[in-house]
Parts: sequence; C-alpha cells; structure tokens
Amino acid sequence: MLSPARNRLTIPLLLLASTAAPVFWALPEDLPPLRSLGIILGWAGCGMLFGSLLLMLRETWLSHWLGGLAAMYRWHHRAGVIAYVVLLAHPLALAADALPASPALAWQTLSPFANGWAVRLGWLSLLLLMFGLAATFASRIPYRIWRWLHAALGIGVVLGLGHLLQLGIDEPVLPLLALAVLLLGWRFIRDDAGLAARPYIVRSATPIADGVVEISLRPLAQPIAADAGQFVVVAFHSGAGFRGCGQFHPFTISSIAGDGEIRIGVKALGDCTRHLQSIATGVPARVHGAFGHFLAGRPTTAQLWLAGGIGVTPFVALLRGGPLHQPTTLIYLYRSETDAAYLHELQTLAAADRLLSLQAYATGEEPPELASLLPASHDLSNRECHVCGPPAMVAAVRKALCQRGITTRHIHFENFDFR
Ligand SMILES: Cc1cc2nc3c(=O)[nH]c(=O)nc-3n(C[C@H](O)[C@H](O)[C@H](O)COP(=O)(O)OP(=O)(O)OC[C@H]3O[C@@H](n4cnc5c(N)ncnc54)[C@H](O)[C@@H]3O)c2cc1C
Repeated sequence: MLSPARNRLTIPLLLLASTAAPVFWALPEDLPPLRSLGIILGWAGCGMLFGSLLLMLRETWLSHWLGGLAAMYRWHHRAGVIAYVVLLAHPLALAADALPASPALAWQTLSPFANGWAVRLGWLSLLLLMFGLAATFASRIPYRIWRWLHAALGIGVVLGLGHLLQLGIDEPVLPLLALAVLLLGWRFIRDDAGLAARPYIVRSATPIADGVVEISLRPLAQPIAADAGQFVVVAFHSGAGFRGCGQFHPFTISSIAGDGEIRIGVKALGDCTRHLQSIATGVPARVHGAFGHFLAGRPTTAQLWLAGGIGVTPFVALLRGGPLHQPTTLIYLYRSETDAAYLHELQTLAAADRLLSLQAYATGEEPPELASLLPASHDLSNRECHVCGPPAMVAAVRKALCQRGITTRHIHFENFDFR
C-alpha cells in the first residue's frame, strides 16, 4: 500500500498535471493579457474536467493506486466544481478583453444568439455542467434520479468539445473527444452496466434487526478478492419472484468464507435498500470490488473503534475473522435495541475475547452526547481510532477526538455515504 502522504498527494498532482498539460500546449503568445487569460482559463477548465472524468472510474487497481474510491469521488466532485467556475470565467475574461474597444463587441462575445454554433454550444455545455453539478449537491434526492441528473455532466463535456471543434480547433480536440468518449463509455459499460462485476447468487437472506437484512452471496464464477472491512458495489437483478432495482450500491462485507461466499448487512435507507429487505434466495446479483482500506494495516497498538448504526459492519467482519491481537474498545451507537444489528453476536464475541471491550449505547433520535460517551484524553493517548457510520456522526466524532488531543493521523474513518 502507498504511504499515507503519497496517497494524499497522488490525486491533486494528477489533477494539476491534467490542468497544466492543455494550458502549456495552448499557451498564447503576443495576445492582450485578458484575451490570454480567457484562453488559459478555457483550457485549464477543460483539463480539470478530464481529470475529474478519470476519477469517476470504479476500478479496483485505480482506486488502490489513488488512495481509495472515497478519495477519488471526493476529488471528482471538487475538480468538477473548480472546472465549472474556471470555465464560467473563460467567456467573461474574453468579453472583458473586448469591452474597452466597444461594449457591443463585448456583448457579442458573450451572446449565444450572435456568434453561431460555437458560442451556442459553449453556453449549452456550461448550462449542462451547472445542472449536473447542482444535482451533485442535492444529496436528498433518490439515487436513481440523481444518477440521471449527474449524467448531464458527461453530455456537457462532449458539447464543450463540440464548442472547440466549431471554433476550428481540431488539434488536440479530436483526440480529447475520443478520450472523453472512452472514459464515459468505460464508466457506463464496465461500472453502470456491470461488465466489471462478477456474477453471484443470493444463498440466504436473514433479517437481523428492524429494517436490516443480512444477505449471503455465493459466487457463480471466480470470486472477488476481498479483505475484512472492505466494501463492494452490488446490484441485485430480477429473479426468483423478486424484482431487482439493478443499480449498483456500496455495501461493506460483513464476512468472507473460504469458498468466496460473502455476506453483507443491508439497512433500509432508501428506495432500493427498503425493497431489498424482502429479497429471496436465488436472486442473481453482480458484485464489483473490493474497495477501501479503512481497517487495513492496523498497527499492534491499542484501538478505539466507533460505529454508528449499520457502520458497525466493517468491525463485525474483522471480529468474525478471528481473535484480536491488540486491546480494542468498540463503542457501538444505535437508536434503539430493536435496530441494533449484530448486537447479540458482538456481545458473545466480547465475552469470548478478553482483548475486546464492547460499549453499546441506545442513543434515541437525538444526536448522542459524545462528551460523556468517549474515553477521557489520558485513555485515548497511543490509541489508533477507527470511526464508521453516517457522515454527520463521523464528523462529530472526529471533531470530539481532535478536541481530546488525538491527531488526525491517528483517526481513520469511513463515511457510509458518497455519490
Ligand atoms: C463505503 C460505503 C459502505 C457502505 N456499507 C453499507 C453497509 O454495509 N450496509 C448498508 O446498509 N449500507 C451501506 N452503505 C450505504 C448504502 O450504500 C446506501 O444506504 C444505499 O446506497 C442507499 O440506496 P437507496 O437507493 O436505498 O437510497 P436513496 O434514497 O437513494 O438514499 C438513501 C441514503 O443512501 C445514500 N446513498 C444512496 N445511494 C448511494 C450510493 N450509490 N453510494 C453511497 N450512498 C448512497 C444517500 O445519499 C442517502 O443518504 C455504504 C455506503 C458506503 C459509501
């Protein structure tokens, strides 16, 4: 695995390179400063968008190299927003250049009605990018609708390249267009349509708490390679009297058997996961992964694990894998006893393993009082902390741990939410 510092730098450096390369290629000479700036902004935004496209690919080798899928998606989002702002500034800088000569000329530079298809396509591309990015921030809309809105970004990129072709810039736009189609097609065929995923079948489905079902998946071909604590992206299809929603969603592996069978605990958090509560034996599924390294490479020092709700699954997977090698405290927070998945199993495991101390709390509907639940500062020193659960809980715990003097280097986390 890459060192954490190298991990953190790989994506920003990649984005820097993808932004700088077209700017360097198109660096204007002997043009007025604002016109040069306008051209540079256009190419920089274009390069940043291509970096963002690369980061949407869901490939295990790529995610391993770039520090994990969560980091890739985080930067995919950031790069998309930065590219949009830079591309929006591109026509404004060109218009500002024309303004001293004549306001009418400046308006003509901007107007989608004055300059034919080149400018029209440019604005259409910006509108679609804005539309797709607005959807990115709307985390409340169902995933199936969100996916289609987000796809507007891909069309925006292609139209943006159409804008350059209309301006008569064939080099390097035609190779860039081919690259954009390749990246978008790759994502669609291998990830969304599931070509990269392996076939599995549901062997059993057991309700383990209110609104949580544990699904066992048996491989029908070569099983995926996975470690405890990693997550997979799974789509359930129609079969055996069940109508699958067919979309790929991330779920953490809760156990891995020697024959490649995996189990996942699925909590009803939205349309698809609610429907999955009634899944039947024999339903076909496709599994892609595994991704993530949340619990990989743990040192032998004492550990503090904090789980919120279904975020307990990576810890369950590790504990099911065998006894611990370091003293570990697991603080498990859930709303009520009835929706505490795996609680009885964890209690049994803790009774059998003297290195595991389990503290389970029903916190009700309000955010938990972390000040009273977390160990005191002196109990936390030299501990490696792992936090997994909903983003708001993870953020609150990280803040509370930092306030107790734990440096971010010793806090590892997995948010059960990314798009
Ligand atoms: C790394 C990771 C591991 C996860 N492991 C588990 C697990 O072991 N068990 C479990 O029950 N849940 C897990 N989740 C959450 C699970 O993926 C979502 O509950 C599921 O995708 C909801 O889909 P939906 O269509 O039913 O709900 P929606 O109505 O679309 O959304 C409900 C909630 O789920 C989030 N969500 C929806 N789609 C996705 C997606 N593709 N990726 C991420 N979040 C999404 C939404 O932002 C929203 O907060 C994990 C998420 C991540 C990122």
